[in-house]
Amino acid sequence: MMWQLSSATAPGDSGQNEDWAAAGPTFAVVLDGLSSPNEDNGCHHGTKWFVAQLGGCLCSQLVNDETSLKEALRSAIDMVAQRHARTCDLTHLGTPSSTVAILRNNDHKGAWEYLLLADSVVVIDDLVAGVQAISDKSVDRVATREKADIALHQVGTPEHRESVERLIAAQRLVRNRAGGYWIASADPNAADHALTGELPTGRLRRAAVLSDGAARLVDPYKLMNWPDLLDLAAAGAARLIHRVREADQADAKGAIWARYKTSDDATVIYIGPPRVPVAVGTPRASGTAGAEGTAYDQPRRDLGGPIDSI
Ligand SMILES: [Zn+2]
Repeated sequence: MMWQLSSATAPGDSGQNEDWAAAGPTFAVVLDGLSSPNEDNGCHHGTKWFVAQLGGCLCSQLVNDETSLKEALRSAIDMVAQRHARTCDLTHLGTPSSTVAILRNNDHKGAWEYLLLADSVVVIDDLVAGVQAISDKSVDRVATREKADIALHQVGTPEHRESVERLIAAQRLVRNRAGGYWIASADPNAADHALTGELPTGRLRRAAVLSDGAARLVDPYKLMNWPDLLDLAAAGAARLIHRVREADQADAKGAIWARYKTSDDATVIYIGPPRVPVAVGTPRASGTAGAEGTAYDQPRRDLGGPIDSI
């Protein structure tokens, strides 16, 4: 089957995009580097460098179908750690870190596989189970008091900034520790704590891999559901990001939707049927280009199933 991949990414408030994305013939990867206040992280390279290194190393591992997603992530984390172990303090609580979201079509197994570490999202439109959004939300179970405090302050105020810094400090204490939450940084063991799963190759209708900044229209804004988000991404990955930015700006101070910043870095990779004629010259029903039942191979919507947000 032919797949069409489209992607878009945009920086958030800081203007420094610490998301990273890549797609190959069989996989899509989205990383979301964690911001580090005042670059207090023991690493003179910085978060952008870290996510780029991690992404490159991950891609080099993912091309081998016989390497599991967890093994690929474990190796990639280890490779990056070796690249700056001599120059940087990798024991620093704020050492650069990143969420990880991977979707891979594994020919060897005849399955689409996914991996999530921390709160990026993979949305899968499964012909049997319907649309499911998968994310590792374990970070939401820690530092809940500090997180609740952020909602008391308007984005952009000194009080808000201080509450975000208190949350970051609290999260660092339980990052990559038993009873806390896990994320890709300098400890390869984090890979063992990733959320993984798979579905038979023929069951995937379409999918999207997103950083949390691009998933906001559904979670937490609730302006649409996951099938709507897939429809929007199918119409154009950049269009999805544009809609996120419109919603961000409509509540720039966080009065409706409490958050850490007005706009977060946002990245999406959409994987779906091609939106070009699938067989030029093949007789098809006439109709509007791009509509179902025409010469354009569009995802059908009549098999929609339960929506499951984890
Ligand atoms: Zn470094």
